[in-house]
Amino acid sequence: MTWETVIGLEIHVQPATRSKMFCGCATTYGDAPNTHVCPVCLGLPGALPVPNAEAVRLGVLGALALGCSIREVSVFARKNYFYPDLPKGYQISQFDKPLAEHGLVMIDSPERGAIPISITRLHLEEDAGKSMHDRIPGMTAVDLNRSGTPLAEIVSGPDMRSPGEARAYLTTVRQLLIYAGVSECSMEKGSLRVDANLSVRRPGDPLGTKTEVKNMNSFANVERALEAERIRQIALLESGGQVTQVTLTFNAATGEVKPLRSKEDSHDYRYFPDPDLPPLVLESKWVAAQRDALPELPAARRARYEGTLGLSTYDSSTIIQEPEVAAYFEAVVAAGVEAKTAANWVLGEAISGWNANGTFAVAPNRLAALAAMVEDATVSLQAAKRIFGELAEGSETPRAVADRLGLVQVRDTGALEEWVAEVLAAHPDEVARYRGGDQKLIGFFVGQVMKRSKGKADPKGIQPILVARLAE
Ligand SMILES: [Zn+2]
Repeated sequence: MTWETVIGLEIHVQPATRSKMFCGCATTYGDAPNTHVCPVCLGLPGALPVPNAEAVRLGVLGALALGCSIREVSVFARKNYFYPDLPKGYQISQFDKPLAEHGLVMIDSPERGAIPISITRLHLEEDAGKSMHDRIPGMTAVDLNRSGTPLAEIVSGPDMRSPGEARAYLTTVRQLLIYAGVSECSMEKGSLRVDANLSVRRPGDPLGTKTEVKNMNSFANVERALEAERIRQIALLESGGQVTQVTLTFNAATGEVKPLRSKEDSHDYRYFPDPDLPPLVLESKWVAAQRDALPELPAARRARYEGTLGLSTYDSSTIIQEPEVAAYFEAVVAAGVEAKTAANWVLGEAISGWNANGTFAVAPNRLAALAAMVEDATVSLQAAKRIFGELAEGSETPRAVADRLGLVQVRDTGALEEWVAEVLAAHPDEVARYRGGDQKLIGFFVGQVMKRSKGKADPKGIQPILVARLAE
């Protein structure tokens, strides 16, 4: 009998604001410890929080991109717990009245195709500081630069049935939030973090006991960690044991999950509305304006690429994966390149440079000029790829590079005739075989002429001359 895996994810993303959630301190990343702090984010007595309007706006945009309904009234609540990196003794979050609820996103499940995943809620909160255990030998240091950084927490329903679906969901949510301009969503810089809940059960049974998996620092590791935890729970149950509710941490080096701490049954944070913050009231007119301001989201864009531009599903889904790639593709098309050709260039030569250093070195109009030279047979596609490499280096026009490297194709009939004659004279056996009926040899002759011309002969011009000469 098989086991069914049930997964839900909690994603924390950092809205791309310049300042923190409840004070004016900068949210810059990587600066010296405790240099972006003030009485509010240090939790000094009497300091009063003021919500960051931009964080609220980005939270609403993200919620709308995830198909959520925005609550007209949401409430900031105190989540009370003690930790050295939480100077106030509580975190400002949202509890029973979150910013948004009841969302839905469509994902491409590796096992089940297109499926909906429900979003239970999206709420705004502030981040805690950071404990650093490697800074001072034998001691723990606290950096409060992150303290008070805005976060949007996105909680999914327990709708995923495999680690692959969890990864597909993450990929989709990340895409949506980047397109909507909500967050950079970089796991590396800490602007996107993922915690997962996983349980297993026999199909049709009620939900099993779930565990929480933390410390997964890449999408690939989310998939690996959940696979490891799924296997651990099934082995435990099949050997007659029971799953206990624990928090586990993933070790990427060993691929193992290890218990972090057991979760007490009543993890009571004693939530209550923050008396320093009035309820957050969002007028429906304002929310509607945010909805109108949403840019074209990935699914709509993909449909347009396939429908209007005629791209394949593979090309369109690859291009939309990263907004920068999609923007470059659109610029290349706008510069006059036919969509399929543009997709080939973007996903071929251009993307390798972007993968390597995150930029597209050849401006869309220069790429368009190069593509036009292939189109009118001034250069071969192979030569054009070589020229592309040179364009990334300097500011020459594609034509100038082609001339400098001697890559312009020779279409002059006289020159082509000469090469053909030389090739036929050099290969009398093949000529005899061709004339004896081995027509496939035409490819061999074309190849020889290309070789003799050092790749400069226009292949389209060679064939008719060869056929004519061989028929004599
Ligand atoms: Zn501050």
